[in-house]
Amino acid sequence: MLIVDRTSWHAGADVVVVGYGGAGAVAAVTAHDTGAEVLVLEKQPAESHVSNTSMSGGNFISPSDVKGVEEYQRTLCRASKEMYWTDMESIRVWAEYTCQNRQWVQQMGGKVRPWPGVGGSHREVPGNELIQYCYFENDGPGFMAFLKGLVSQRGIQVLHGVQANRLIRNQHGEVIGVAARGPDGKYMNIRAARAVILATGGFEFDEQMKLQFLRCYPFYFDGAPANTGDGVRMAMGVGADLWHMNCASAGFTMKFQEMPFAFAPSVRRGRLETSEGRDPEPGRSTATCGYVIVDKGGRRFTNENFKQHHVNYELGLYESRGLRYPRIPAYWIMDQRRMADGPLPNTRHGSAGPGGFYRWSEDNSQEIERGWIARAETVRDLAERLGIEPARLQRTVESYNSYCRNGSDAEFRRRPESLVLLDTPPYYAVTLWPGGPNTQGGPRRNPKSQVMGVDGEPIPGLYAIGELGSVFGMLYTGGGNLAECISSGRIAGEQAAREKPRPAT
Ligand SMILES: Cc1cc2nc3c(=O)[nH]c(=O)nc-3n(C[C@H](O)[C@H](O)[C@H](O)COP(=O)(O)OP(=O)(O)OC[C@H]3O[C@@H](n4cnc5c(N)ncnc54)[C@H](O)[C@@H]3O)c2cc1C
Repeated sequence: MLIVDRTSWHAGADVVVVGYGGAGAVAAVTAHDTGAEVLVLEKQPAESHVSNTSMSGGNFISPSDVKGVEEYQRTLCRASKEMYWTDMESIRVWAEYTCQNRQWVQQMGGKVRPWPGVGGSHREVPGNELIQYCYFENDGPGFMAFLKGLVSQRGIQVLHGVQANRLIRNQHGEVIGVAARGPDGKYMNIRAARAVILATGGFEFDEQMKLQFLRCYPFYFDGAPANTGDGVRMAMGVGADLWHMNCASAGFTMKFQEMPFAFAPSVRRGRLETSEGRDPEPGRSTATCGYVIVDKGGRRFTNENFKQHHVNYELGLYESRGLRYPRIPAYWIMDQRRMADGPLPNTRHGSAGPGGFYRWSEDNSQEIERGWIARAETVRDLAERLGIEPARLQRTVESYNSYCRNGSDAEFRRRPESLVLLDTPPYYAVTLWPGGPNTQGGPRRNPKSQVMGVDGEPIPGLYAIGELGSVFGMLYTGGGNLAECISSGRIAGEQAAREKPRPAT
């Protein structure tokens, strides 16, 4: 905690937004439109600024049945009869604002197209069919460019290269500003007369936080490396309570030593089929190539039509006698047909997408050359390269192929249309780790997006939004994080702008 009574202020505004991703941008625009003077701090330089929002798929949920979707979300948040991941009032407000998402974007001039089908990530949960999706034109890069346009049209000042480090409080314990390091390395104090809104994303790239809070380790994310948990630490510094710290929207990622970020395996066009509950995109082809996912012992352990935002929870199995995670890493085993079908990662968005960091070769040849993808003429030789018992992997592939011939997966009930023979040499493997787009944990919020202290009271002058302490607990609905950038950004922007100015001492 930093209590300052004779601070020299280097800059200031009514509302200071820390972090210029989707949530920060929506909050800045809303606070401005509610009548406040707003300043945005962003730690990355303008010319190389990449956020999770700008790397995303640009799809967000925007249902229309407020009551129905509230009930659905309650079911997802119920851990036991009495225990919920998220309080009821926050869920109610989430439902109300989430149902306005599409309308808000369109009112602001954004171009979105609705997804023709319905249904979210959880077919098993009543109310899943109420989830409706919108896609932003040009995915995440388009969404972020649109939001940045709204910020610049309003003349809202954005200070790039300014990394917020600590919150400044007055003698009443109210948050009145931020201490930050400027582009020249010098510290500066930024005054926030009404409120600070933290929008710094999650802790996907802080190894200690991931080790201490997530359910297994290592854990590799495929989004923006600038998300290093700064907002979590700043909020803890002023006594914030935390929630959802062991929750992540994550499945498998591919991670290689030379790169700080991971890659999402492609789940499009049948390259890895998922079982998200929503209806398939019209014209989406069914699987064209065979593959299995195996553990360190060469055994399949899950239905490979996995839930891309949740299968990470299946990887946390730990063998206490062997002191090891048998599924970390896992291996994606495939054949030449898959290799010829295009790049292994998702190249539409994320780290190998147009707004990402790495250009993956069309035929995967560069990555084979780099040693990222193992290759062998037989399944046995491939197993040897991976350190798996050859006979075991051979048996796994033979069983899988027999399921393909019978049209029925006796072990994991994989969808029949995804049962394609794995029989065309050479064979390939890539290592899969727990990982995905983002963490969900951070400071606990109340329905107004105010940060709650460990004493159960809101910390005056402090808000948190976006994936930094997301409203979602363990079970997430795909498209929910961008949706929450809009909803929580609007809520915090409105509230912060209406706060009374606080004394600087
Ligand atoms: C590849 C990928 C695809 C995805 N696709 C979807 C999708 O289609 N639909 C969906 O709903 N969700 C998706 N997500 C998740 C979603 O994009 C994010 O959860 C959401 O964009 C987070 O927004 P945010 O504003 O909270 O954080 P971010 O967009 O990550 O922005 C945080 C900003 O804060 C800045 N910052 C961090 N620390 C500081 C500091 N100390 N001082 C100043 N600035 C700081 C960062 O540099 C960054 O600019 C995807 C994520 C990824 C990675």
